[in-house]
Amino acid sequence: MQADRDPMGRAIADYHRDGKAARLRVFSPMFDEDEIPVAKLFRTLDEMPDIEREALLTAAGAILDVGAGAGCHALALQAMEKQVTAIDISLLAVATMRERGVKDVREQDFFTLDGPQFDTILMLMNGIGIVGTLSRMDAFFMQVDRLLAPGGQLLCDSSDICYVFEDEDGIIDLTGIDGYYGELTYRMQYRDVKGEPFPWLFIDAETLREQAAAHGYHCDILVRGPHYDYLARLTRKR
Ligand code: SAH
Repeated sequence: MQADRDPMGRAIADYHRDGKAARLRVFSPMFDEDEIPVAKLFRTLDEMPDIEREALLTAAGAILDVGAGAGCHALALQAMEKQVTAIDISLLAVATMRERGVKDVREQDFFTLDGPQFDTILMLMNGIGIVGTLSRMDAFFMQVDRLLAPGGQLLCDSSDICYVFEDEDGIIDLTGIDGYYGELTYRMQYRDVKGEPFPWLFIDAETLREQAAAHGYHCDILVRGPHYDYLARLTRKR
């Protein structure tokens, strides 16, 4: 992704260079304006939630970190002497990861990645969000089929955002929503750098299990987090 259309990459590069960054703003038609704390993208193992720590401990063999961002997970895995390849579509994120010491890192879209297979595919901080909409699950699993070595695992976290639709009486009303309620559209802005809108998926554990089953995968929930979030492991059915 080109630097002038890449707010998150700009934020990551600034924070890496200056130790601070401006606000990374997130807009979605469904929500009030929100913000991603840029420092959070540089979290250390100690600062990671249990879900992520468990994912890093479970990751084994040749690991692919998809949408690796500032490289926090790749660096933590390297420190554990695990073998990790980091990919991201952001050129600035990739350059930052390289400067931070991620050894095997490249600018690469997950959906067009070719080449050797991996024992673990890691997609953290709602990394499965890159699938965008449920309609892209076929394309996603086709890519997982290609990239996952025999006996391999995909580790991803996401959350059930049903709570967004809770009314003042605590009742969750999902009627009248077009399509699956976890299909969002995001747009980001950092200083004057505005990104294009992009689809971003949050998926609840039950829907992920159904999707996995329909595409020939088991789905085990390894950890449940404090706020509708969870860590899942997908493995091929034999
Ligand atoms: N995993 C990191 C960063 C999460 S932000 C962390 O937990 O801190 C999501 C990242 O995914 C961004 O850096 C974005 O550039 C990248 N990304 C988005 N779509 C992608 C795709 N199709 N292939 C690879 N990376 C992608």
